[in-house]
Amino acid sequence: MESQLRTLARMQLLDDQIGKLKLLQAELPKQLNSILEQVEQATANLLLTETERAELGKKQRSLELEIKGHQEQIKKYATQLTDIKTNKEYKALNSEIAYLKEKISALESTEIELMEEDNNYKSRVTEDKKALAAAEALQKEKEGDLRAQIGELEGEIEKHRNARNELARSLPTNLIKQYGGMIKNKGNQAVAYNRDGSCGGCGFNIRPQIRIELQLRKKIHFCESCGRILMDRFDDL
Ligand SMILES: [Zn+2]
Repeated sequence: MESQLRTLARMQLLDDQIGKLKLLQAELPKQLNSILEQVEQATANLLLTETERAELGKKQRSLELEIKGHQEQIKKYATQLTDIKTNKEYKALNSEIAYLKEKISALESTEIELMEEDNNYKSRVTEDKKALAAAEALQKEKEGDLRAQIGELEGEIEKHRNARNELARSLPTNLIKQYGGMIKNKGNQAVAYNRDGSCGGCGFNIRPQIRIELQLRKKIHFCESCGRILMDRFDDL
């Protein structure tokens, strides 16, 4: 009977491993996705900042053209001034020139604001590029490993499952069924160890008589509360 208990304990060890591998199987693709999403997000951020900066550049250039147009107009008026005969015309043209100069000065202060804005964009582009480089470095460092690990997991689980099934062959069929049912329905735990007089699976207090029997390893005990296979822990398996 002790050998059956030992086999069950070994099977549980393998199922513990399978459980961990299954957790990884759920976890690793999430890690991979998050790494890929970070690169995507950083790329999108940089693109957006660069697009906005380009828009600003367009505004700056059209402003420059507007200023240039006004300046050329002023030059034309200035040459016309020399040909003017009447005082009235002279005044009118002069006030036109003054008006254009005011306009230029307003446009120039807008131009300065836009230059400041452009400087902000410039440092944002630098930050975005840094963030993208960091995300890509992380991708380069982790993606290959993660993909390889994800690819290997199924095979590893299969290997452990085969080893467990191989062990199970020496057990009576009904015991295998009970074991398998508990792995499925009791949180991947069919074997619970006596933990200082309590069931390691549910914490239920083990009666003194049973505790003695657990030490003897003469029969298979089930926890009176959770139904798991109860045994004293083996020092060696
Ligand atoms: Zn229990």
